Amino acid sequence: MRLVLLGPPGAGKGTQAKILVESYGIPQLSTGDMLRAAIAEQTPLGLEAKAIVDRGDLVSDTIVSGIISERMDQPDCANGFILDGFPRTIAQAEALTEMLKSKGIALDAAIEIKADPDILVGRIIKRAQETGGARADDNEEVLRKRLEVYEAQTAPLVAFYQDQGLLKSVDGMEPIDDVTAAIKSAIE
Ligand code: AMP
Repeated sequence: MRLVLLGPPGAGKGTQAKILVESYGIPQLSTGDMLRAAIAEQTPLGLEAKAIVDRGDLVSDTIVSGIISERMDQPDCANGFILDGFPRTIAQAEALTEMLKSKGIALDAAIEIKADPDILVGRIIKRAQETGGARADDNEEVLRKRLEVYEAQTAPLVAFYQDQGLLKSVDGMEPIDDVTAAIKSAIE
């Protein structure tokens, strides 16, 4: 199973990805997690990405496409993966199409987790409180920037995947278990 999870920050992509990992035994590939790990380890990539991630902008398409392509070649991705937070621009989606083609594989579905932006602000503020500010980009000002970036750069991927016949949309405002059930029924 090869899935893309689409949706604004705070919609529950990471939460759902972790549940699907358990159900399907395939890894979650989160570019946000990979970038945060690189920032924590102060690798050259992390040093380059830190300021961009902290202010809620997007890291370059070439960088994230490269890290995802390498990650997909790891043995644990042989039976599939759940892409969480990638692609985030049309250029990344096109790069993904090309990289999958070159690896001789294809996506099964792109799941859009729909969410109300006003409710997301509250959710993210709650996440920031629960995690004790573990993420520098979990604050209201940066979140509003991330939502703007989502609308401008990532929302067009909904139409992109619809045109490819891969789009399935679920209501991310329902309880977590109901969202999981809706995703499973959409892909099975
Ligand atoms: P996330 O954990 O998915 O919310 O990502 C956190 C931050 O990492 C984003 O706000 C971006 O700065 C950066 N990031 C994650 N994934 C991507 C991507 N596919 N393209 C560009 N930047 C990304």
